[in-house]
Amino acid sequence: MREGVAIEDVSRDVRAVSGVVARTERGMRETVRARVVIGADGLRSVVARRLGLRRTSPPRRIAFTAHVADVAGVDGMGELHVGRSGYVGMGPIGGGVTTVALVVPLARVRPGRWGRGRGRDYRTAWFAELERFPGLRGRFDPRRLVREVLVTGPFAQWSRASVADGGGALLVGDAADFFDPFTGQGIYSALRGAELAADTVAAALRHGGPVGRAALAPYRRARRAAFAGKWVLERLIGLGVGWPALTERVVARLARRPDLADLLVGATGNFVPARAALAPGVLARLLW
Ligand SMILES: Cc1cc2nc3c(=O)[nH]c(=O)nc-3n(C[C@H](O)[C@H](O)[C@H](O)COP(=O)(O)OP(=O)(O)OC[C@H]3O[C@@H](n4cnc5c(N)ncnc54)[C@H](O)[C@@H]3O)c2cc1C
Repeated sequence: MREGVAIEDVSRDVRAVSGVVARTERGMRETVRARVVIGADGLRSVVARRLGLRRTSPPRRIAFTAHVADVAGVDGMGELHVGRSGYVGMGPIGGGVTTVALVVPLARVRPGRWGRGRGRDYRTAWFAELERFPGLRGRFDPRRLVREVLVTGPFAQWSRASVADGGGALLVGDAADFFDPFTGQGIYSALRGAELAADTVAAALRHGGPVGRAALAPYRRARRAAFAGKWVLERLIGLGVGWPALTERVVARLARRPDLADLLVGATGNFVPARAALAPGVLARLLW
């Protein structure tokens, strides 16, 4: 375990990955050899980019997150507010503090409105944007901001494969595939993906020598089996959330059909298989 070290690149023996190039806290470059490199470096994964695997697709959204104390009307439940210009997720985190995440289309974030240059201050624009949501208007006191507004994104970045073409490396978590925060699936997917990676890597390392693409293939197959349905469901919800009339229609249906609501929450909460929510009959009942 080495903290304070940034990975800058992967090293290779011909095509296969043979380790990483790291920048130490003192600014020294160092090559670390490894039989397997696991890229677990998040949404902006250097490992995925250096392997040439990163791709982007719409909808491109960006999140502004902060902690605010004494938000009016917070009662211990999480809240999701969907509007024409994005959505807001809120959840109490104890001590009267609420974590508030505003997710908006990247195209909406104009430099003039959101500040320019390094160290810019997003506070004013962030609170103004929250006020545009009818269910949030007047609930925040900007003086009660207890952690700065942090920005992350754009989302909808994914890797075209979870195993390096030449072998020797694989990707887990957001580095492999980012799930839009709306469905809250990212942490589960990262942890479940890590378990699947551990199974494959432990088996591959029992044999000596380089760990080629074929030895890592079980991980690719296990990911596909575990996440293909979730991926489709998350993309459908992600697209629907960008279309307020559709969101309103589905939410109205869910209010009248608690069984459908339970099914959808179960599928996004990973205790019901995603394919159950993707059945044509269920999708039809969500709309009509
Ligand atoms: C606004 C927002 C709300 C969310 N809400 C939820 C939710 O409610 N529920 C849920 O399940 N998920 C949610 N998610 C998603 C969740 O946060 C991620 O899916 C999860 O953190 C992914 O874990 P990870 O380990 O793959 O990546 P990360 O948590 O991003 O960890 C990556 C780590 O790699 C390190 N790193 C990056 N680059 C390098 C480098 N070059 N060298 C060395 N280290 C590096 C980083 O410092 C970091 O520690 C949300 C995300 C956002 C943006």
